[in-house]
Amino acid sequence: MRLDKLLANKAYGSRKEVHQLIKDQRVTINGEVARKKDIHVDIESDVIAVDGQIVNTKQHYYIKFHKPKGYVTAVEDASHPVVMDLLPPEYIKMGVVPVGRLDKDTEGLLLLTNDGVWSHSIINGNKHVEKVYYVEFEGELTEDGIQRIKEGIVLGDGTHCKPALIDILSSKSVHITIEEGKYHQVKRMIGAAGGTVTYLKRLTIGHIDLTGIEEVGSAQDLSSDDIEAFK
Ligand code: URA
Repeated sequence: MRLDKLLANKAYGSRKEVHQLIKDQRVTINGEVARKKDIHVDIESDVIAVDGQIVNTKQHYYIKFHKPKGYVTAVEDASHPVVMDLLPPEYIKMGVVPVGRLDKDTEGLLLLTNDGVWSHSIINGNKHVEKVYYVEFEGELTEDGIQRIKEGIVLGDGTHCKPALIDILSSKSVHITIEEGKYHQVKRMIGAAGGTVTYLKRLTIGHIDLTGIEEVGSAQDLSSDDIEAFK
């Protein structure tokens, strides 16, 4: 990465201000004064400093993506297209990977990052991140099934789910809010309550929604507020 771009990205000022820092010989690369603003630095191995203070060159990327149906949530798959096929190449170059997964036939909000700690705090952390799904189904949800979803339904294989929120939208559609991410969880919860899911879309993860990525297949960098909220 270019030295001036790195410093500007790291909030050492505008490109112009950063050029001045370099001109004033306040920037060093591995202890040597940087002479050129457009010199390329290796953010993995070079030690960059401004006024003797080391610059954190770690580059983390945080993305929200509107996953379409028909794509596997994986980096590679031998026989199916994967979500990475749809991302701009610079994201892939930075090594972003999905945070959790959506089924191949599920649409909606998927986060991706190359920050493993951040990813872990969403998937396994104790932050109790709520995810809202829009669900269409065939069959009928029984009163008892709806009550069991609210109280913590037990799935066919004996798996216990935590209590979930369910909003009835129509006789064939609901919003379900869950904190967990068990295998096929929403489909199996609806199944255990009497329905069969025909369409599933994730609308939100915590406070993050599909705003700005309404078009299926589109992606956007998360705002710093979005990123900080999960740190
Ligand atoms: N629950 C499911 O059943 N599938 C998903 O893709 C996400 C949640």
